Amino acid sequence: MNIKLDDALASLKDRTKEKLTPAPKVLVKDGSFDVDKLPIGAEWHRLTDVVAVVFDLKSSTNLEKGRKPASVASIYDAGVGGVVRVFNTHGADFVDIQGDGGFGLFWGDRRYERAVTAGITIRTFSIDFEAQLKAKWPDAPTTGFKVGIASGPVLAKKVGLERHLNLQEPVWAGHPVNYAAKLAQQTEPELLAITASVWDAIENNDYLTFSCTCNGGPKLLWESATFDKIPDEERYGQTIENHWCKVHGEEYCNAILDGETKRSVVEAQRHARTLLGYGSPQLITLRKSRDQLRASLAEERRSANAEALVARLLRS
Ligand SMILES: [Zn+2]
Repeated sequence: MNIKLDDALASLKDRTKEKLTPAPKVLVKDGSFDVDKLPIGAEWHRLTDVVAVVFDLKSSTNLEKGRKPASVASIYDAGVGGVVRVFNTHGADFVDIQGDGGFGLFWGDRRYERAVTAGITIRTFSIDFEAQLKAKWPDAPTTGFKVGIASGPVLAKKVGLERHLNLQEPVWAGHPVNYAAKLAQQTEPELLAITASVWDAIENNDYLTFSCTCNGGPKLLWESATFDKIPDEERYGQTIENHWCKVHGEEYCNAILDGETKRSVVEAQRHARTLLGYGSPQLITLRKSRDQLRASLAEERRSANAEALVARLLRS
C-alpha cells in the first residue's frame, strides 16, 4: 500500500483553515427582518437603515449612594421601566436595557418618525420623573434621561451558544447604537441630541422642526451642534430643548406618526418671509437645489457606510 501522506496532510490543513475561518455571509433583510430568526454563526442579516435611540440615566451612581437597595430598585423601576414603556408605545422594533440605560431600535416604515417622537416623549417623561424623585428625596442629585439618536446601516446576528436560547444575544454591528451612545454621553437631559443623518430625515417636517402656536410660535426648535466624539461627518448634528406641549403634544405626535409633514401656519410664515425679501425666487431655487444635493449626499453616505461595514466584517 502506498499513500500520498504529504498530499493528504496538506489537504487536511487547508480544510481545517477553511472550516475555522468561514467568510461571513450577508443577507439583506429590509422588509423581512425578524430578530427571532437571526442566525447564530457566520451569517449576518443586514438592514440598510436603522434608527437607534440610546438613553442614559444622569448621575445614576450618585442616585445609588446612601440609598437602600429597595429604594434604588424602585428608582430604576420607575425610570428605566418608564422608558421601556415609551419605546413600546412608539412601536420600537427592539429594546435592550443595561442597568441605568439602554436603547431602542426602529426599522421599517416611519422609523424616523417613531424614533424621534419616542425621544421627545422620553424627554417629556424625564421632567416629571425627576420632579417626583425630588419631591420624595429632596437631597437627590439632578438627574433625568440623556437621549441620543443616530441612524445608518447595521448587520445583525446572534452570538452565544447554539441550542441554548437563554445564552444568545443579538449583536448590532454598525454605527447607529455606538454613535447614539456617544451623543447620550455628551448631552444633558434638557437637550435631545441627533446626528446629521437623522436631521436630514426630519428637517422638512414642520411638526418636528417648528414649535406649536403657544408662546408666540411657530419657532424653529433645533440648534446645530458638533459632537466631537463622533469621528465622521455624522458629528454635525442638532439638539432640541423642547418637550411635548400639554395642549398640542398629543395632536402633533399623532400627526407625525400618521406621516403628516406640512403645517399651513409654518407655510404662511415662510410665505410672509418671502414677501419681506427673506427669500427671492432665485434664493428659493438655490435652496431647493441645495436640499436635493444634500439628500443625494445623505443617500451616498448611507450606501458608502453600508459597503464599508460589510468590507470590515469580511476582513475580520
Ligand atoms: Zn402648544
